[in-house]
Amino acid sequence: MMPVEEAMARLLALAPQLAVEEVPLAAAAGRWLASPVIATRDQPPFDASAMDGYALAGTPAPGESFRVIGEAGAGHAFTGVIGEGQAVRIFTGAPVPDGATRVVIQENTRREGDRITITDRDSGPNIRPRGQDFRIGSEIRPRRLRPSDLALIASMNVARVHLRRRPVVAVISTGDELVMPGDSPRPDQIIASNSFAIKALAEEEGAIARFLPIARDTEADLAAVFELARDADVIVTSGGASVGDHDLVAPVAKSLGMEAGFWKIALRPGKPLMAGRLFDAAMLGLPGNPVSALICAELFLRPLLRHMQGDPAPGPRLLTARLATALPANGPRAHYMRARLEGDTITPFDRQDSALLTVLSASNALLLRPVGDGARAAGDPVPYIPI
Ligand code: AMP
Ligand code: MG
Repeated sequence: MMPVEEAMARLLALAPQLAVEEVPLAAAAGRWLASPVIATRDQPPFDASAMDGYALAGTPAPGESFRVIGEAGAGHAFTGVIGEGQAVRIFTGAPVPDGATRVVIQENTRREGDRITITDRDSGPNIRPRGQDFRIGSEIRPRRLRPSDLALIASMNVARVHLRRRPVVAVISTGDELVMPGDSPRPDQIIASNSFAIKALAEEEGAIARFLPIARDTEADLAAVFELARDADVIVTSGGASVGDHDLVAPVAKSLGMEAGFWKIALRPGKPLMAGRLFDAAMLGLPGNPVSALICAELFLRPLLRHMQGDPAPGPRLLTARLATALPANGPRAHYMRARLEGDTITPFDRQDSALLTVLSASNALLLRPVGDGARAAGDPVPYIPI
């Protein structure tokens, strides 16, 4: 059985980074920047007032008075020069006129006609110097663009960005027992649930995810559904990946030309995980058991999609918490236990059966027991992945 880390490295090697496309900034949210954005201007582009008040020179004492010779508003610069004994009425965001070294806030002045008198000292010059946020030529390195990144890029006067193409993910459920939610299952049927979580996870990572029809447990039907995935960048199946008589994913994918990457990983839950390349796609064959399928999607599909979009460190981030209860030694497979994290204490659920979606749904962390990890006492630090 292959260790999880090796399986991950092999999976990523199966999938090249996606092509780059130019996209208007308004459509870039949540997507991966492929090349640096470079600021085309300073921000602010001039010394700007940080307050509403009066621009003047020096550090006036209470009682001093000045003649107001004009006004500067945001988008409306005052073009003259402020001389001795003079001030300009100024508003937040306006360029500070030549000759001024400070903005006295209006609360510290009294105005009579075209004169102001200083009533109180204030603390700062209240001026945002040119370029204090960023300078022309500043760079934003490739990353997944958050809302604040979009604002920053916009303020750099960059209207279009180079992004990785969004991966197209084809989601295939397999099994004669499956019907879609809302259908009327026969007594021997269950509802296909895995595909909903897989699609949601893929979309969370910026993919365009598509349900294909449920593949019945015949070679012909499965092959026909695979054919519908020819345009995908990633094909994800669930079920049929074990070695039972009806587990057809591997043989059918191979008959369609899949280059096998690996099968069977030292992992609990989810040993029968399969990966390869099929058509022009990375192929990931998840187990059928819902919890196994979803944990394998978390551990493998999520990093795969991040990697394809340019994330240099796509793997799950391991954090550390204190174990609430003692645990026996772990066996030869890495065990990702459904657990509840509260504060910095993590409690694994008693029931770890891989068919229990209620337990997974109540979990907010996967507690990792590494291969061969010894017995753990309450209070021990243990690694986990937030989910
Ligand atoms: P399999 O790997 O096909 O033998 O499936 C293992 C278990 O997972 C069986 O109990 C299946 O009924 C169940 N299963 C397979 N696919 C799904 C699915 N898409 N949604 C919910 N359960 C599934
Ligand atoms: Mg099946």
